[in-house]
Amino acid sequence: MIERIDISRIHVLGGTDDDARRFVESDFKIRSGLCPNGHGLLQETDFGQACEQCGFSTNKRAEKVAHQ
Ligand SMILES: [Zn+2]
Repeated sequence: MIERIDISRIHVLGGTDDDARRFVESDFKIRSGLCPNGHGLLQETDFGQACEQCGFSTNKRAEKVAHQ
């Protein structure tokens, strides 16, 4: 089970609560293996994950979840 980061632990330098919320959402999607820009599944690469559609890439890997 992938859980969102506790938003109270996030501090976006020079940012607002909205920035913190966006960070939490995009981090959650990345760890779920999804493009934070809404393109669906990310491709696994040697260094992490990448989106073929928008070129987004990250060195965070998706956490494996058991789909039932
Ligand atoms: Zn994308």
